[in-house]
Amino acid sequence: MKRNKRVVIKVGSHVLTEKDETTNRIVMAKKRMIALVKFISKLKSSNYDIILVSSGAVSAGATKVNIDKKIIKNKQALASIGQPLLMLMYQEKFSKYDILCSQILISADDLDSRKQTAHAKNAIDRLLELEVVPIINENDATATEELVFGDNDRLSAHVAHYFDADMLVILSDIDAYYNKDPHKYNDAIAYKTVKEIDQKELEADHTPNNEFATGGIVTKLESADFLLKQNKQMFLASGFDLSDIYSFLIDKVHKGGTLFK
Ligand code: ADP
Repeated sequence: MKRNKRVVIKVGSHVLTEKDETTNRIVMAKKRMIALVKFISKLKSSNYDIILVSSGAVSAGATKVNIDKKIIKNKQALASIGQPLLMLMYQEKFSKYDILCSQILISADDLDSRKQTAHAKNAIDRLLELEVVPIINENDATATEELVFGDNDRLSAHVAHYFDADMLVILSDIDAYYNKDPHKYNDAIAYKTVKEIDQKELEADHTPNNEFATGGIVTKLESADFLLKQNKQMFLASGFDLSDIYSFLIDKVHKGGTLFK
């Protein structure tokens, strides 16, 4: 039997949250989450197996408790409060499509050890056989690496590699990788395909552009660099408007978004 294509989709906290204009507080972006879940259900019925790496736990926690997110232990507490809230939201939305989802909390160390990775991979393989969508997040209350830097970009690249995915898709607040920051330069040009990452770009400053973004483009490039070295592909596309990733995965037409290959 032909194996389904296995795709890891990573969604950043920028995509899953938005500012409420009346209260000025960060809230969960429900419409975008609904669109993402609908898209995943479409992928599943188009012979894809999907593993979702989702940020957003800290933001979900912050909708309930108002404490300073710049302090790491507060962030950990918010992640711990927000993780079950986030899962509840996913569960509700996936159930509309009769899809079960499951939670896997992982730390980068888990994936460093061969034994731990094998255990986790067994669970993932079984869940996918059962047609469940595993939802992975870093175990932020005990491991702070991605919480401080990365917003799950690096974790998702490791997940794609160790769990034998064909491709990592990063859904971001930016719709492609450009020759310079498009939020600063309006003449920036998007790359369609990238074959290798210039080491200089990996050394650029990390550029978090709001209090929830700890990644910026550099951690995405690090992920792409890691996967390219493993002979795997990565696709960077907008998480605000899913039409480019829809075209690429469903219609097999590369319109927008950057393919690292
Ligand atoms: P997310 O939270 O969606 O994962 P981030 O906001 O952390 O993503 O990172 C994406 C941001 O990186 C973009 O909004 C953009 O302002 C910035 N950026 C800097 N340089 C570039 C570049 N060369 N191409 C694309 N985005 C860039």
